[in-house]
Amino acid sequence: MLPIDLRSDTVTRPTDAMRAAMAAAPVGDDQYGEDPTTNLLQQRCAELLGKERALWLPSGTMANQVALRVLTRPGDEVIASRECHAAWHETGGAAANAGVQIVEVGAGGLFTREQFEAAIKPRGLPVFPPTTLVEIENTHNRGGGLVFPQRDVEAICSAARERGIASFLDGARLWNAAVASGRSEAELAAPFDLVAVAFSKGLGAPGGSLLAGRKELIVVADRQRRMMGGAMRQNGIFAAAALHAIDQHRERLREDHANACALAEAIAACTAVDIDLATVQTNIVIWRLKPGAADAAALVACAREQGVLVSAFAARTVRAVTHLDVSAAQIARAAEVLRALLA
Ligand SMILES: *Cc1c(COP(=O)(O)O)cnc(C)c1O
Repeated sequence: MLPIDLRSDTVTRPTDAMRAAMAAAPVGDDQYGEDPTTNLLQQRCAELLGKERALWLPSGTMANQVALRVLTRPGDEVIASRECHAAWHETGGAAANAGVQIVEVGAGGLFTREQFEAAIKPRGLPVFPPTTLVEIENTHNRGGGLVFPQRDVEAICSAARERGIASFLDGARLWNAAVASGRSEAELAAPFDLVAVAFSKGLGAPGGSLLAGRKELIVVADRQRRMMGGAMRQNGIFAAAALHAIDQHRERLREDHANACALAEAIAACTAVDIDLATVQTNIVIWRLKPGAADAAALVACAREQGVLVSAFAARTVRAVTHLDVSAAQIARAAEVLRALLA
């Protein structure tokens, strides 16, 4: 029996219909601007995100790295949430590629306008690094798939604008945030200068991300993409998968959210587990193992033996992610296995 793979929403495989769309896609050389399917995807996403222009990138990490290079200069400081992807999951790329330092503020992946303002370095004194960018992650991965409250987004971005600080949205899972909040992707992206979205997470495409923003920023992003080696050729094969995913897999994200809720409720019933059900808003479930219970590595290994794959996120923290390739019945089975192990 195939394992029930809850390690990440990146483990999905393209469906037959997605593969058919990829096989049928018209393609050309994207570095000449001649890949019609990539052009279509970029137009479609610019519209969906309410921005002037959009640019394909091979991965979410490269989208984040390019965004930093577009919006900052080496030596600058970036204010972001605690445990944000840019600081925790990009192997030091912010420092290596953009030469910036990230200051993490707030708690649990969220922060307020007040916390943002308190972290801004005073201008005018040469000892301080200039704060030139604020970055928000929505939904927040290590925060447990939290949706960033839009009133806080708006307050933070307007405070940034007042001070000439740029704003960037790491929206790798913005599609989940839109479904969970009932707000459009364009509304969620509106306060930001640049926004990144991913096709390879819950949407189930085999790869790809995209940056959207004003035309002059995307022109710079295009050069930075090339400089990082991320400009591709007959990319329409990937873009076709992304277009298919946008049309066919966006609404169904609510099934993933319902599955995550069901799994979280089952796990919350175990006394060995510490989980805040209020944080389970989308497709990610993170729980802590109380003192006395087995540690995360042991739980992950035992679950694997019984055909359920989850991730050890820290010594006593475990993450499970729901997605296109796990059904409600498989979630019920996974919940049973985990409950038995946690009893
Ligand atoms: C996965 C992820 C990324 C990076 O995407 P890759 O395609 O894996 O490089 C960026 N930001 C967030 C919040 C993510 O979850």
